[in-house]
Amino acid sequence: MSHVLTLNAGSSSLKFALYALAGAEPEMLSTGQVERIGDDARLEAKGGHARIERALQGTEGADHAGACTAILALIAEHYPQAQVAAVGHRVVHGGARFEAPTAIDDTVLAEIERLAPFAPLHQPHNLEGIRAAQTAFPGTLQVACFDTAFHRSQPWQADVFALPRAYYDRGVRRYGFHGLSYDYVAGALAEAMPELAAGRVIVAHLGNGASMCALKGGVAQGSTMGFSALDGLMMGTRTGQIDPGVLLYLIEHEGLDAKALSDLLYRRSGLLGLSGISNDMRALEASEAPEAEQAIGHFIYRIRRELGALAGVLGGLDALVFTAGIGENSAMVRARVCADQAWLGLILDEEANAKRLPGVRTISTPESRVRVLVVPTDEERVIARAAAGLLGADSSETPP
Ligand code: ADP
Repeated sequence: MSHVLTLNAGSSSLKFALYALAGAEPEMLSTGQVERIGDDARLEAKGGHARIERALQGTEGADHAGACTAILALIAEHYPQAQVAAVGHRVVHGGARFEAPTAIDDTVLAEIERLAPFAPLHQPHNLEGIRAAQTAFPGTLQVACFDTAFHRSQPWQADVFALPRAYYDRGVRRYGFHGLSYDYVAGALAEAMPELAAGRVIVAHLGNGASMCALKGGVAQGSTMGFSALDGLMMGTRTGQIDPGVLLYLIEHEGLDAKALSDLLYRRSGLLGLSGISNDMRALEASEAPEAEQAIGHFIYRIRRELGALAGVLGGLDALVFTAGIGENSAMVRARVCADQAWLGLILDEEANAKRLPGVRTISTPESRVRVLVVPTDEERVIARAAAGLLGADSSETPP
């Protein structure tokens, strides 16, 4: 039986999941991550084996290639029969060219590298992950799955900034991100509620990074994220939408250079910056400090504002979907986003919203014209499916 490994490389982490290709749908066997690569690295994994947690010594913990070797060793130990036939990678930026998962060869790798300046905080780590996997699994099919790809079908109006046209041609566009998550949610909705999926849907991916995407018939119509993963909603440590005049002011009058601005906008702002307490919604919900409530209040204000804006783009709304860490787990955030939205035809069922249930679930009342749903996202599965798809039909053979 063939297997697919998915990798999601961050600055100091490498998340993975191992899938068996035994039927129409990849079956997840193990998932985990190496954290703190280069400094006290640790491997954690769970699945069809006992929970694993161990420190990585020497070269295994030194870099992404070492982490990849450790993951490989884990697979060899717990799944000795496993044959990794493809490795699927999450790649944050696919530019204007990549509209679908793509087998990585030298040309594709060079193009991913060329796009690194578009996502300087993420793309270099994605590249490290790819190179590490090429070393650990020589000759194995490597597949790039782009977070931008889902949005490539959005209309031109949603794709441009009102800059002189030459900038658009040079790649200064609204790319949108969290595409693997939107892809999963759109697919899950189409399977569970095809009529609704054919209509006007807004998906709110509310995690540490957060964005919203408008869909018509499952096709992207616009997203709150733009050229970078900074725009749109307020996030854990990122500003989200900000008046560009603020940036000019900080450069001209407070002496911030590009590096200092990047640090401010990506790492010191958002829930963390406004609360001064934490970037973690759980910590803010538990806090009694007024700054925590103010930060949550602004987070919700921004979501409500974008909800109205995207509903305007769609010409109305049939469904609102919450997903990712906060969207799936915070009944409080969902309730406050959905409060007083009867003008939109949206009425939340408070009781259903408060319940913790697995899977796709409805949290609006039967009278609500707009269906409100919670759909747990699964970006790894999207990568695994894509890699399996590119592997071709013979990987879906049933085991002997
Ligand atoms: P990312 O993948 O972008 O790092 P996640 O989708 O894992 O982020 O979401 C992380 C966020 O979800 C954090 O702010 C965390 O506090 C929040 N979260 C997770 N569980 C809960 C919960 N039970 N209640 C409120 N917030 C939660």
